[in-house]
Amino acid sequence: MTEPEGPDPGAEAGAEGSIAVLLVVEDQLSAGRLFDVLRDATATRFEVTHVQDVDEALEKLQKASYDVLLVDLPVEEGYGLESLYRARVAASTIPIVLLTYQSDDHLALRATRAGAQDYLIKGEVTPALITRSLVHAVERHRMLRDLRDAQQRQWFLANHDTLTSLPNRAALLESARTAIETAARRSQGLVFLFVDLDGFKPVNDNLGHAIGDELLADVAGRLRRLRPRQDLVARLGGDEFVLVAVDPPGEDAPVRLAEEVRDEIEKPYHIGGMECFVSASIGVSVFPQDGENVEELIRHADTAMYASKAAGRNAVTLYEKEMDQETQERFALVNSLREAIRSGDLLLEFQPQVHVGSEEIIGAETLVRWRHPTRGVVAPSEFIGVAEDTGMMVPLGEWVLRNACEVAASWAGDLSRVRVAVNISGRQLEQRDFPDRVQAILTETGLESGRLELELTESLAANDSVLKALASLQKLGVRTAIDDFGTGYSSFTLLKRMPADLLKIDQSFVHDALSQESGVVILDAILRMARGLGMEVIAEGVETLEEMDLLLSLGCHQMQGYLLGKPIPKTEFEALVTAHDAPWRLPISRPETWSPPTREELLRSEEAAQDVESVGDEALPVLRG
Ligand code: C2E
Ligand code: MG
Ligand code: MG
Repeated sequence: MTEPEGPDPGAEAGAEGSIAVLLVVEDQLSAGRLFDVLRDATATRFEVTHVQDVDEALEKLQKASYDVLLVDLPVEEGYGLESLYRARVAASTIPIVLLTYQSDDHLALRATRAGAQDYLIKGEVTPALITRSLVHAVERHRMLRDLRDAQQRQWFLANHDTLTSLPNRAALLESARTAIETAARRSQGLVFLFVDLDGFKPVNDNLGHAIGDELLADVAGRLRRLRPRQDLVARLGGDEFVLVAVDPPGEDAPVRLAEEVRDEIEKPYHIGGMECFVSASIGVSVFPQDGENVEELIRHADTAMYASKAAGRNAVTLYEKEMDQETQERFALVNSLREAIRSGDLLLEFQPQVHVGSEEIIGAETLVRWRHPTRGVVAPSEFIGVAEDTGMMVPLGEWVLRNACEVAASWAGDLSRVRVAVNISGRQLEQRDFPDRVQAILTETGLESGRLELELTESLAANDSVLKALASLQKLGVRTAIDDFGTGYSSFTLLKRMPADLLKIDQSFVHDALSQESGVVILDAILRMARGLGMEVIAEGVETLEEMDLLLSLGCHQMQGYLLGKPIPKTEFEALVTAHDAPWRLPISRPETWSPPTREELLRSEEAAQDVESVGDEALPVLRG
């Protein structure tokens, strides 16, 4: 308890167990009496500071904090109510208890409306009564404050993304609507950027969700820091963000802004002692030309973002009207593809893989086709990408795998020696239980594991979980192949680590070998390297006799290509293998002067090929076709 003129306790308001009271009483006598009453209160300790009027109270409130204002003002007939209002406004976060001379319900009501929490009759004040009133006022006030905080928190949660604290979709729509109205009134433009991260899923899957979450928060932080406050930055969910900027000056400003965002996102991230990278595919739409309302503008920016993905990612694309047509076509394609997988409108073709030295068909690569109701037979290049982007690749890939295994398992006689090669998409490998699924299909169809070969591209293998999956597949006895070798990263280190039995040389190297000077050298180098690493090699896309002969002379005997057989339906393929006198050779018409390489020649080239130096660890120059 402090005496009226004593030191100011307010600075320590709320000290343990005590309540800091700012007492506003005009006359000293009343103040003294109230001090006595408060001192006699035993249940709670009061730290009291006395001031004589509201002005003085407001001054004190500026300097220190108090738990409650105890105001004794002559409020009869309205006098003093105004002071109460002023106190209420200045000290909105502190409860007020009013002291007055008489019981007057009307006055009590007015005082409450003016902001008082409670109302005490002076003559009736006892230590117990005043304690209860002050403690209740403080408690009630605290509860109201907590409630208000909870409501604010609730509002924040409803409008913000908890991971990044950025506004969410609902808040974005709301704010962007207001921004559009303002821009329309001021004849300003607005730029909408739809930002979708590339390569986020592998980070999340391989490095764990905690790292993924931190990465998203870092991206959000970069976006927020990059743009001044008047821009809106929101997270729509997953790895999608939207940025709305007000009228950047200059005609190419929307693209420059998007490029700035793309460059910022592309910089490396350092999370949990690791360095990781993502890039962004960005679509841009501009108000008013690309849409009148927020939904349309975001949809159009999204459409343009899709074009950035299709253009190879890490790109910026401005929305154009024609894109809508493409989007609709794509949408129709997605729907009918879903139906095709369900109703079995897919079919497999089999392309022979030949060992030219022994003149045998050793395998068949299965290639999927879509029997479209109106478009006829559709090539995989037209729908594999769509299937991968829309979550349909896993069921599609599984359909192919099961069918290929069923067909191969049904083969008997000469056919029972033929292996079946199946292309595997990254989407399938992303599933942790992929090797188990393969095992289940082998068991179900009864195919011996050594007759199944899975083809995947080298870019997929750049990731540890894929290498693990490949090793488990090899443990099952399944053969693994690197498809289209030379068109991806082609690193020695990767090749060395990759559990692969077979390397499939991309057709571009086969064609270049005859048309470019360095072609033969590269082809030769790939063959030697593969052998040095203990891998078998098959050349893809062999179309001419010259190509075949060159490959033979370099010691490559396994080949696949139109010269040896195009992809054909199952029954035709079966007939090709079972027919006598190596009918696969029939389509090959050689010049009169040609004679096959002799056995000695073949052996010599094979020996030469096997005699290779050890392979270094440095990356190959990127071998692009
Ligand atoms: P790929 O795995 O490299 O398959 C070889 C492609 O080259 C096939 O095209 C084949 O028809 C074509 N080809 C074969 N020999 C020659 C030749 O001598 N000259 C030329 N110019 N081309 C030749 P297709 O059937 O259009 O398949 C294209 C790609 O689609 C395949 O490339 C593969 O990556 C993918 N694909 C096909 N079926 C499946 C599947 O079931 N699953 C997955 N994930 N991808 C598939
Ligand atoms: Mg393939
Ligand atoms: Mg290939």
